[in-house]
Amino acid sequence: MTAQLVCFVLLLCAAVRLEAAPPGRGAEPGDAGRFWHITDLHLDPTYHLAPDPTKVCFSSKGKPTTDAGPFGDFLCDSPYGLIQSAFMHMKSLVQPNDFIIWTGDSPPHVPVSELSTSMVIEVISNLTQSIRQHFPNVSVFPAMGNHDYWPQDQLPTSTNDIYKAAARLWSPWLQDDALKTLSRGGFYTQLVRAGVRVVSVNSILYYGPDRATVNMSDPAGQYEWLDDTLKKAGDDMEKVYIISHVPLGFLPSLRNVTAIRDEHNEKLLNIFRRHSHVIAGHFYGHTHKDSIMVLLDSKDSPVNSVFVAPAVTPIRSFSEPYSNNPAVRLYFYDKRDFGILDLWQYFLNLTEANLEQRANWKLEYIMTKAFGMPDLRPHNLLELAVRLWLPPNAAFDAYFAHFTVSYDGRPSCQGECKLLQLCSMLHLDQARYGACVGAQQHRHSLASNLL
Ligand SMILES: [Zn+2]
Repeated sequence: MTAQLVCFVLLLCAAVRLEAAPPGRGAEPGDAGRFWHITDLHLDPTYHLAPDPTKVCFSSKGKPTTDAGPFGDFLCDSPYGLIQSAFMHMKSLVQPNDFIIWTGDSPPHVPVSELSTSMVIEVISNLTQSIRQHFPNVSVFPAMGNHDYWPQDQLPTSTNDIYKAAARLWSPWLQDDALKTLSRGGFYTQLVRAGVRVVSVNSILYYGPDRATVNMSDPAGQYEWLDDTLKKAGDDMEKVYIISHVPLGFLPSLRNVTAIRDEHNEKLLNIFRRHSHVIAGHFYGHTHKDSIMVLLDSKDSPVNSVFVAPAVTPIRSFSEPYSNNPAVRLYFYDKRDFGILDLWQYFLNLTEANLEQRANWKLEYIMTKAFGMPDLRPHNLLELAVRLWLPPNAAFDAYFAHFTVSYDGRPSCQGECKLLQLCSMLHLDQARYGACVGAQQHRHSLASNLL
């Protein structure tokens, strides 16, 4: 570890020590509110157990599958049976007051020419119907993903067939005001219950590959809307859960690459820092992996907990060394201030499920138990992040095993890999992240082929 990194750790240790005493102990999960997080379902309707391994799914792009079974393959997007098994598992656990956040990406990873506007709408419609059938009395709050458009990533700044279709399909869950901004710009806000609202941000408008928004300072006026929405929520004494597809900050597996465009990342961070007292948590998807971030304010005090949830789809691109097992997540929150108390990560061991021809979804880990934490509020997440820097390595190894949702063979992460994971966890803006990784050069965010 370089002197510079040690310095960072020490500074952060100081920040942890200086943090005021934790606010109220928080309710035990038994007395907590709950919600589910599903993301990156990526249904591949072409998935079938063909004798020719190159023809199992369009999403393998001609590469031969090796472990194809009834619940999928690591080179393919989700067969419907996999998604259905995830929903059945959730259904067996869902409680009357639970709600669901669904952070986007329904269509498969296939070449643009294989899809169309109507096909994208059809996939979103099929998954919406499926969610409604499995959870008829549960409120669902969706967000748009970069694949929820045709051509992919090109989400526009004004109304179009897909935003309109989303508003129509999601009208059983959302109120008129929300449907209005959804059909206009792909974003909305809605009160979940007294005291807490969801703000669904269309982060694709800030995503590098979106050519529709290049050089725009405020695509679709979403920044102004977001700023106003957060201010009003604060005035009304409400708390906010930010839900969105593409996360803010830096990708944990790549050096110096923001998930959204750099300038938009800075802008969004400024808005979130300004209103951090109103925000009770951030929930993203897109990377398909399980990671956390801690938003620090200008004095390095932790102000927001940021969660990136792993995907339902197990797909990896042919060149990637590892993938993720299919995953769905349950959060527990304090009913008084809506702070996040815990997360329970459920997963399907895909290899095992295919061998047994049975989808045995299990609990992968309980975050507070796995890392010995009282809850997942920002100061405790910071304390964990600092602990992950320091020896022994067991806590970080556990964190990285969760990153891949306990993918077979437990890929290891040391040296550069570990440095990038840890820097992205704590440093969401360019200046601090750059200092943390010691990067000289500056790369613009570009989507990898997989995302
Ligand atoms: Zn995705």
